[in-house]
Amino acid sequence: MVPAQDPGKTSSLNHAIFRYGGLERSDTTAKNIYLTFTGGDFNDGGKWINRVLKRKGVPAHFFFTGDFYRSPENKKLIKKLRKQGHYLGPHSDKHLLYASWTNRDSLLVSKEEFTSDLLNNYKEMAVFGISKQGLPIQKTD
Ligand SMILES: [Zn+2]
Repeated sequence: MVPAQDPGKTSSLNHAIFRYGGLERSDTTAKNIYLTFTGGDFNDGGKWINRVLKRKGVPAHFFFTGDFYRSPENKKLIKKLRKQGHYLGPHSDKHLLYASWTNRDSLLVSKEEFTSDLLNNYKEMAVFGISKQGLPIQKTD
C-alpha cells in the first residue's frame, strides 16, 4: 500500500475546500449548485433523471464506469445525455476501490493499476465519441 497525498488534511483557497488531495467544494460563498450523477452496476432512475433535466433545461455531470458504458442496455441513455449536452466523464473502468473508507491514508491500488483502469474507461467513452476531457471527439478528416 502507498500513502495517499495529505490524508484528511483540509485546506482552502478562494473559499474552496480541498481534502484528501482533491477539491471537495468549490467557492462556498457562491450560490451555485452542480448536479452530479454516477453510474456503475445499476441504471435505476436514469430515464427519469434525464427526463426531468430535459424538462427543466438543467445541465448535469455524469460519471460512468467502463462497465456502465459497455452495457448494451445503457447505450440509449448515454446517447440521449450526450445529445442534450450534459458532461459525461469516467468513474473508473471496473469501479476500483482506491482506498478504504475507514483508512483513507493508504491506497489499495498501484499507480499502474489506476492508470490502466482509467485508460480503459476512456476507451469506452471514446466509443460514444467522448474525449477524456468529456468533450466530443473531433474528427480530423
Ligand atoms: Zn462509485
